[in-house]
Amino acid sequence: MNFTESQERQALRAAVKDVAARYGHEYFTAKARKGEKTSELWAEVGRLGYLGVAVPEQYGGGGGGIGDLAAVCEELAAAGCPLLLTLVSPAVCGTVIARFGTEEQKRRWLPGFAAGTVKMAFAITEPDAGSNSHRLATSVRRAGDQWVLTGGKYYISGVDEVDAVLVVARHVDDTGRRLSPSLLVVPTDAAGLEFRPIEMDIVSPERQFTLFFDDVRLPADALVGSEGAGLDQLFAGLNPERIMAASFSTGLARFALAKAADYARTRSVWGVPIGAHQGVAHPLAQCAVQIELARLMTQKAAALYDSGQDKAAGEAANMAKYAAAEAAATTVDQAIQVHGGNGLAAEYGLGALLGVSRLGRIAPVSREMILNFVAQHTLRLPRSY
Ligand SMILES: Cc1cc2nc3c(=O)[nH]c(=O)nc-3n(C[C@H](O)[C@H](O)[C@H](O)COP(=O)(O)OP(=O)(O)OC[C@H]3O[C@@H](n4cnc5c(N)ncnc54)[C@H](O)[C@@H]3O)c2cc1C
Repeated sequence: MNFTESQERQALRAAVKDVAARYGHEYFTAKARKGEKTSELWAEVGRLGYLGVAVPEQYGGGGGGIGDLAAVCEELAAAGCPLLLTLVSPAVCGTVIARFGTEEQKRRWLPGFAAGTVKMAFAITEPDAGSNSHRLATSVRRAGDQWVLTGGKYYISGVDEVDAVLVVARHVDDTGRRLSPSLLVVPTDAAGLEFRPIEMDIVSPERQFTLFFDDVRLPADALVGSEGAGLDQLFAGLNPERIMAASFSTGLARFALAKAADYARTRSVWGVPIGAHQGVAHPLAQCAVQIELARLMTQKAAALYDSGQDKAAGEAANMAKYAAAEAAATTVDQAIQVHGGNGLAAEYGLGALLGVSRLGRIAPVSREMILNFVAQHTLRLPRSY
C-alpha cells in the first residue's frame, strides 16, 4: 500500500498546474460569461499530451491510467479552470473505445483523443428515464448494413463543440424485442440529428443540449463493442466518469479553499485576521479534512480501476464521487461566507462557482442514486426503487 503518488504523477500535476495557472479563473469565467469556449486552453493541454495521458501508447497517448487523467482534471479545476468535457471526451469515450472498439475504431479516434484534437460527447440521460436507465427509450435497429437510431436525450454537455456523440441506445431485434443497451458513435453532422441548447444558470463555457434522433442512419462500424453488450461495457465508461467527476469536484474545492484561506489570513476587521476567529477557521479546517478524504477515496477508486478490478472500483468510484461532491458544495459555500459581501462580487469569482460546485450532487449520477447503490450493494439492504 502506498499513500504517496509516484514521482511521475506528481510531475504531471505540477506541469498541468503551471499551464492552467497561466490561464486562471479570470480567463475561464470571462470566456464563460461571454459565451465563448476555452479552446486555447484545451488545445494547449492537448498538445502537451495531458488530455491523452490515459490513451494507450501505440495510439499516441501516454499509456497511463484513469488516475493520471483524473490528476489532470483535478489540477485544471484547482487552478480555476474546471473543464467539464474532460469527464466525457477522453474519459468515458476514450476508455470505451480503447477497451471495446475495433482496431479500426481505435485508429480512427484514439490519436485524436491523445492530442486533444478530437472531442466526443456522451449521451445517456433521457427526459422520460432520468436516473432510471432501465427506462431508456432511445432505440437502435438494424436496416441492411446500417443502424437506425431513434429517440432523444437531454442535458448532454458540449454537443456544439464535439465531432461526435457516443450514444447509449437500446438494441431492438428483428422481432421488436428491446435488448440491452448498445453504444454508437454519432457524428454531430449526421442527417436526422438535431440539437438545441438548454439555457442554464451555471457559469461554464460548456453548454448543455437536448438531442433528437429522427431515424439517424449510421454505418455498421458506428457500433462500439458488441450488439446489446449491456451494462458491463457501459460501466467500463461510467466508472472513469465518476472518478473524473470526483476529481473535478475536489479540484474545485481546493480552488475555493485556497482562496478562502488566503482571504482569512489577510482580511482584518477586529484588529486581527478574520482567520484568527475559530468561527471562520474551523469550518475551513473541516473543508480541508473533507477534501483530503474525498481525494484519498478518488485515488483508491482510480487505483482499483487501473488494476482491472472493475467491481471494487465501482463501489469506490461511487463513494468518491459522493464525498467529493459534498466537499465541493460545502467548500464553495464556506468560501463565499468567509468573503462576506465580496463572496458574491464578480471580482472574487466565487459566486460564479455556485452552480458548477453544486453540479456534482446531480451529475453524472445523483447523490441519491449513489446512496441507493451503497445501501443496496455495500450494506445489502433491500432495493428501494
Ligand atoms: C450541467 C449538466 C451536465 C450534464 N451532462 C450530461 C452528459 O454529458 N451526458 C448525459 O448523458 N447526461 C448529462 N447530464 C444529466 C445528468 O446525468 C442527470 O441530470 C442526472 O443523472 C439526473 O437525472 P435527471 O436530471 O433526469 O433527474 P431525475 O432522475 O428526474 O431525478 C430528480 C431527483 O430525484 C432523485 N431520484 C430519482 N430517482 C430516485 C430514487 N430511486 N431514489 C431516490 N432519489 C431519486 C434524484 O436523485 C434527483 O435528486 C448532465 C446534467 C447537468 C445538470
